[in-house]
Amino acid sequence: MNKSALHKLSYGLYVISSISGSKLNGQIANTVFQITSEPATIAVSINKQNLTHDFIKESGKFSVSMLSVSTPMEFIGRLGFKCGREIDKFESLNYRIGETGVPVVTDHCVAFIEAGVIGELDCGTHRIFLGEIKNCDIINDEEPMTYAYYHTVKGGKSPKTAPTYQAQEPKANKQDDKAKRYTCSVCGYVYDPEIGDPDNGIKPGTKFEDLPDDWVCPVCGADKSSFSPE
Ligand code: FE
Repeated sequence: MNKSALHKLSYGLYVISSISGSKLNGQIANTVFQITSEPATIAVSINKQNLTHDFIKESGKFSVSMLSVSTPMEFIGRLGFKCGREIDKFESLNYRIGETGVPVVTDHCVAFIEAGVIGELDCGTHRIFLGEIKNCDIINDEEPMTYAYYHTVKGGKSPKTAPTYQAQEPKANKQDDKAKRYTCSVCGYVYDPEIGDPDNGIKPGTKFEDLPDDWVCPVCGADKSSFSPE
């Protein structure tokens, strides 16, 4: 069995939010699928260890915010790699309470869905929630982000498959060829010197060694010491 075949599956990138009493929480997920159209239903797979899982289980509802391609890594990192038990993820982002009472994150969101849970499937580490769509709308016409885009362009891995991105790439000289890529031991983000970290003002062509001392992983916030060469 060649598990790398699974990397060929296509996904999007979403914020899944839910509520417990007055507490709000959300997380990043790539596994959201429309299941039926009449009635309109969607399914989402959530890790049972996540706080959002407990909130959905308790409230029986959730929202999906579809992220745009321009979503900064930092935003994804705050929602995806920090735990809602430790920080209030909604403190520093824009959202509104939807018709069903769940929070809907509006930052970097091209469209949203609110759903009420009508079924679930225990899948070991994860649980799939089946939701009937109660409300949904388009917020803007920006292109939604795909999971592949997140990995190849935002994460700096193999940008060869992203033609529009390649056009913006600087011409590598010999020195750049030698510059190593560094991997974050916390979240797996790869710093690629050819790409830099444009979201945080780091120009393409900046070697890892030349990053400012206070530079942190744009995904999870870990400092430079958490990185090692690939
Ligand atoms: Fe990281």
